[in-house]
Amino acid sequence: MDYDVIVIGSGFGGAITSCRLAEKKKRVLVLERGKKWTKTTYPRKLEDDWIWSNTHPEEFHGWTDLRRFKGMAVIAGAGVGGGSLIYANVSAVPPESVFQSGWPPEITLQALQTYYDTVAKVLDIQTVPEKQWSPRVRLMKEAATNLNQAQRFRPASIAVSFDPNLKYDFSTPPNPANSKPFINKHGAQQGTCAHLGECDIGCPVEAKNTLEKNYLFIAEKNGAEIRPLHLVTNIEPIPGGYRVHHSELKDGGSVAGSTTAERVILAAGSGSVAGSTTAERVILAAGSMGSTELLLRCRDVSKTLPSLSPFLGKHWSSNGDFLTPAFYLHRDIWPDWGPTIGAVIDYLDASDNGQTYWIQDGGIPNVMNKYSQAVVERLRKAPHETHLLEGFNMQSLIQHVTLLSSDLDVFKRIMPWFAQGVDAGDGDLHLTEGNLDLTWNIAASLPLFDTIEQRHHKLADATGGHPFPLPTWLLSQELVTPHPLGGCNMGRSAAEGVVNHAGEVFGYKNLYVADGAIIPRPLGVNPSRTISALAERIADKMPV
Ligand SMILES: Cc1cc2nc3c(=O)[nH]c(=O)nc-3n(C[C@H](O)[C@H](O)[C@H](O)COP(=O)(O)OP(=O)(O)OC[C@H]3O[C@@H](n4cnc5c(N)ncnc54)[C@H](O)[C@@H]3O)c2cc1C
Ligand code: SF4
Repeated sequence: MDYDVIVIGSGFGGAITSCRLAEKKKRVLVLERGKKWTKTTYPRKLEDDWIWSNTHPEEFHGWTDLRRFKGMAVIAGAGVGGGSLIYANVSAVPPESVFQSGWPPEITLQALQTYYDTVAKVLDIQTVPEKQWSPRVRLMKEAATNLNQAQRFRPASIAVSFDPNLKYDFSTPPNPANSKPFINKHGAQQGTCAHLGECDIGCPVEAKNTLEKNYLFIAEKNGAEIRPLHLVTNIEPIPGGYRVHHSELKDGGSVAGSTTAERVILAAGSGSVAGSTTAERVILAAGSMGSTELLLRCRDVSKTLPSLSPFLGKHWSSNGDFLTPAFYLHRDIWPDWGPTIGAVIDYLDASDNGQTYWIQDGGIPNVMNKYSQAVVERLRKAPHETHLLEGFNMQSLIQHVTLLSSDLDVFKRIMPWFAQGVDAGDGDLHLTEGNLDLTWNIAASLPLFDTIEQRHHKLADATGGHPFPLPTWLLSQELVTPHPLGGCNMGRSAAEGVVNHAGEVFGYKNLYVADGAIIPRPLGVNPSRTISALAERIADKMPV
């Protein structure tokens, strides 16, 4: 075998499992479809690589993978570090109620606690020092206080490094010079947060504690090999292990670039040449959408893993994400300054209409704005590239955000009231003509979204804001989630799941899934900490 372990994807699940197995002296290869980004290559200009295209990855292998299904769009990152590059850094432990149903009996809050603690240490979770609170965080506190619910407000736990001595009151624009360089506890170079507000498009001063600054850094120190721009296309059992087929993406095309390249298979684009690599054990960590799509293809298209559970793709959740912008006539909010999320107002006790959710200050989603502008720019230059319009029936949302951000005076007065909650978790991922598709019916989740929307209105009203529902919601109840969960759910058996409590795929020894795809129900809070805790547990329980 070429390696002991091949890990597919380098987000939370992939980084953590590769780190722990490399520490155990395993020969680990990480195959990541996206680029290795650095602070000098993060996309900024319109012509930069914003777009990851699922249908044309050999041409578009940029920062953001946005997929649109009927009623739901899903956004994810692509690159070494996965979602940690693009995410808003919130690291949250869900309430105990979330563990009362849907999980195999081995998975409880108590059983995960030690792993949650380890993740917090490695990611160096912190809160924004009070002397650096953004106008959004102050507004959150005021809103909760005005509703006599001050106890529900708290600063969010985030994976960002701060200089505790910095005093910054947002009366002047953020200045990168406020960032102090330092070497973190793992030995990686970072800087402290200067409140530049670019968390979801790559932190220019490296204040985000992204995975290349911790888990992936440790993995590489222990010998793990990370190959960016390697899109995995198929997994095939062979005696003693698995053959993982991949396509190496280069600008303008894809070429073979592997130890045992030999034939053309499920290609990344027409004319692509694929390679393959072998290992005794494979850990699939391509995220909820990526892992589910790959396994669906292995079961239903290439038929290399025909015995995968019929449960594959079932019980997918959007994690109840919901956004309501509000306009403040006499108050500057500066939604694009400061960490993208800085605080929460907590209704996870289900005291509001029986719904479990919490509210956050979502910074304006720069990433969607930039993505949409990049698509428009590409189409202007190459009108035949209509495939870029996949995911673009969300035009009204995108135009809305673009319009807002083009007028500075309006833009600086927008508060994006954001939330996650426990939705019905009844989405269904499957293939339509070989491509990933989602059946999403909002009906059973409507009580949650209605409750959140009413709460957003109350919080805005309590602070003099004027909420305006997004047209996508108002006109067609269309939602966007950055928090897809499930598809390869954990369960007690193949009748009710795809993997067991230790992440091993039912029916396929030494094939694991260790990412957001295994979470069998909505968490109601940002999911990366739970994905990470489960990945720590999977690596811990894995036979050496
Ligand atoms: C804008 C935004 C903001 C967010 N903010 C937060 C937040 O504040 N807190 C939070 O907890 N969560 C947040 N999230 C969600 C968080 O990023 C994800 O829940 C998390 O990254 C999922 O971890 P994962 O390991 O399941 O997958 P990912 O982190 O998505 O990693 C999967 C990796 O696999 C790669 N991959 C996919 N398919 C293949 C393939 N076929 N071959 C090779 N590689 C492949 C991908 O490129 C990616 O690097 C946010 C997401 C977005 C988009
Ligand atoms: S606000 Fe975000 S992008 Fe800006 S310095 Fe802080 S962590 Fe980095």
